Amino acid sequence: MGERARTPVTSLAFYPLGSVESRAAARAMREWQHSTRKGVEYVSCIPSGRDDSRIRFCPWQERRDGMLSRYPYVPHVWVRIPVEGVPSCPDCGAAYEQTKESGGMMGFQPSCMARHDPDNRGRLLKKSE
Ligand SMILES: [Zn+2]
Repeated sequence: MGERARTPVTSLAFYPLGSVESRAAARAMREWQHSTRKGVEYVSCIPSGRDDSRIRFCPWQERRDGMLSRYPYVPHVWVRIPVEGVPSCPDCGAAYEQTKESGGMMGFQPSCMARHDPDNRGRLLKKSE
């Protein structure tokens, strides 16, 4: 059996709360979480009144429990059926995907979220070099 990837999470329990060791362990855990991009993503399609036709990413934020979280915004648009033109992403031109039909309307949402994710952009650029 190979050694499993160890996380500093387990070491926190060994130190008294508030001690130098516990703070160091907490710091190590934070760094580990940043380096491995552990985080929770809450995708929202609630318009904010800003440029709501575009996918938007906010920076990762550290929560009180040390986890990272962010709230990307993905637009959702309704088009009256029969659909005469599929909406597309104003940034990359990719056609939106159908989501659901409701009350004579068809829902559409972009499928190119990963393309616009600032976390992915670096990787994608490296691949194409
Ligand atoms: Zn796009």
